[in-house]
Amino acid sequence: MHLAFIFLFLYLKLYLLAGANVVSVLVYLYAIFGLADKTLIAHDDRTIGWLVYGEIILHALLATYYLGLDSGFHYYIYVLAMLPFFTQRYALKTQLLRLMGIVAVSLFLNIHFREYQPLHGIAQHYIVVLGNINLSLFLLISSGLALLYSQHEQKHYKQLKNRSMLDPLTGLYNRLFMIEYSEAFFINKTTDTLSPALIVIDIDHFKSINDRYGHTYGDHVIQHTAKTICNIVDSHAYTSRWGGEEFVTLIPDISPEMLDKLCHTLVNTFYNQPVMIDGSDIKITVTCGAALREAQESFSELFIRADSALYKGKVAGRNCYVIDA
Ligand code: GH3
Ligand code: MG
Ligand code: MG
Repeated sequence: MHLAFIFLFLYLKLYLLAGANVVSVLVYLYAIFGLADKTLIAHDDRTIGWLVYGEIILHALLATYYLGLDSGFHYYIYVLAMLPFFTQRYALKTQLLRLMGIVAVSLFLNIHFREYQPLHGIAQHYIVVLGNINLSLFLLISSGLALLYSQHEQKHYKQLKNRSMLDPLTGLYNRLFMIEYSEAFFINKTTDTLSPALIVIDIDHFKSINDRYGHTYGDHVIQHTAKTICNIVDSHAYTSRWGGEEFVTLIPDISPEMLDKLCHTLVNTFYNQPVMIDGSDIKITVTCGAALREAQESFSELFIRADSALYKGKVAGRNCYVIDA
């Protein structure tokens, strides 16, 4: 934009304004490289902020002084009015002070230059063209900034949403998501030939793994268990880390025979494949408790049945599965 203005002002023989635009281009280059290269003196983005604010205000004042209000260079100061609230880094008081400064400069320009005869008399039609160019650029920059801001907010919202849904250690869904998702799923579930099922999977004697190999090793075992469960269960199942070394998988629809087969596979896979971590093999086993959803059953009712089936499996000696009938 400033580059284009250099040529336009040279064409109009407004050399001082062309020179001012050269300075502006240098300021923006410094700001861009300063933000990208942390070794430059300008890496302090607060300095860059003040440079850009200063450039816009001084440029608008100089151009209005030269060409009058109708040339529309004061619009760029209005863009600045939005900037204080784009960041939450500064205290509200600082942001309000900045805004008041910008309002004061805008009022000064509007009042002082209202009846003012521009210093440089260029033909009126050039002023009209400049006024329209600047108005259009002002609208484009303002809506561009609004777009950038909303995209930034959307990205931030998505990141927060992901964090609130996922367990950081395993990347599986967390307990809160599992409860909310399952409750909504059960409400919307229409009666079908197949029922949803819940499987609670718990690593056996996990405490002794922690005690023997350390907590970090225990964490690796939890991560490995999460991956293995996901590899075994159907891709349309929802697996969560319920807490500690316990996982809950929701199968949206499954027959009693398939559920039995799935639990069998889960228990046997862990039994037959030792976990290889840091070059050493350790054998872990899991116990599963499962239940098929009965008509109108809520998530918490189903969970209680699957969890007590797990408890029965633990009492029966672990490394096994129990399906609540
Ligand atoms: P059981 O066969 O009856 O399930 O016995 P267990 O030892 O697996 O179960 P218990 O509930 O006695 O112990 C679970 C242990 O899991 C205790 C706790 O310190 C450990 N634990 C919980 N969360 C984590 C975690 O995020 N990382 C690690 N490494 N350990 C955890
Ligand atoms: Mg356990
Ligand atoms: Mg447990």
